[in-house]
Amino acid sequence: MRTRFAPSPSGHLHLGHLYSAHLASELARDLGGECSLRIEDIDQNRCSSSYEEDLKEDLNALGLQFQGPILRQSERYPHYEQALKKLQTASFTYPCFCSRKEIQEELKNLQNAPHGPEGKHYPGTCRDLDPKERTKRIQAGAEHCWRFHSERAASILPKLTFTDIHHGLIAADPTLLGDLIIARKDIGTSYHLAVVVDDFEQQITHVVRGDDLLASTHLHRYLQEILKFSAPIYLHHPLVCDPDGKRLAKRDQARSLRELFEAGWQPDQIWKLLAHMPHSEKLR
Ligand code: GLU
Repeated sequence: MRTRFAPSPSGHLHLGHLYSAHLASELARDLGGECSLRIEDIDQNRCSSSYEEDLKEDLNALGLQFQGPILRQSERYPHYEQALKKLQTASFTYPCFCSRKEIQEELKNLQNAPHGPEGKHYPGTCRDLDPKERTKRIQAGAEHCWRFHSERAASILPKLTFTDIHHGLIAADPTLLGDLIIARKDIGTSYHLAVVVDDFEQQITHVVRGDDLLASTHLHRYLQEILKFSAPIYLHHPLVCDPDGKRLAKRDQARSLRELFEAGWQPDQIWKLLAHMPHSEKLR
């Protein structure tokens, strides 16, 4: 059994991260496995090594320990490129030349824009471009990202499911979030592609993360199928809220772990801020 905690060093850690890290390491402990640390820093403009150092220090101060080597995504672009090629070869991606502004304009003009749990979907402008037109634009150096052809996945691939320890067996819907970006124009990969490749290559058997990523797992399950990767078991946990069940608004709870330390909080006082969350009985 192997799980991971996978923060992005694009800012300081918050209580939500701490809760996720706690649940992942508890699960590893309960199942006699390992929990490793993965640094999700594909977006080099937003991430920094000083945030990485800070987060390691914060986790350490809170008594969280990880096993095995630390995997840093910014060192693994060739792995993502290889996976992207497989998706392209199997025609599950297409190049998209739209700017953000163009997409917004197009969605504004659409009567019934396709939408899902996270808002409006990409309207599909570049989905059916003529292959010759695509090649011409790419050869002319037009900027483009690569999107997932969700309808093709839905029509060709078998119906898939994934198992979630909290939510049970879930029927995956590749169209739930529409044609998401698999490879961004600036970095050649995306959160979705990198996480699926790394979870497989690191032999992660259990993925622990917040409910805000549950919808993404529908896509991940289909990417795993196309890439011939086995699917891990998931545990999507509730997002950390105030003790009264509302969004984190109370001053202390909304502060980063670093701010709490700087204000003189001790680790056990910080852990107590999570005491109202489910499965927090084993908090240090
Ligand atoms: N890097 C993601 C985050 O910080 C977590 C991704 C995951 O656990 O799959 O929200």
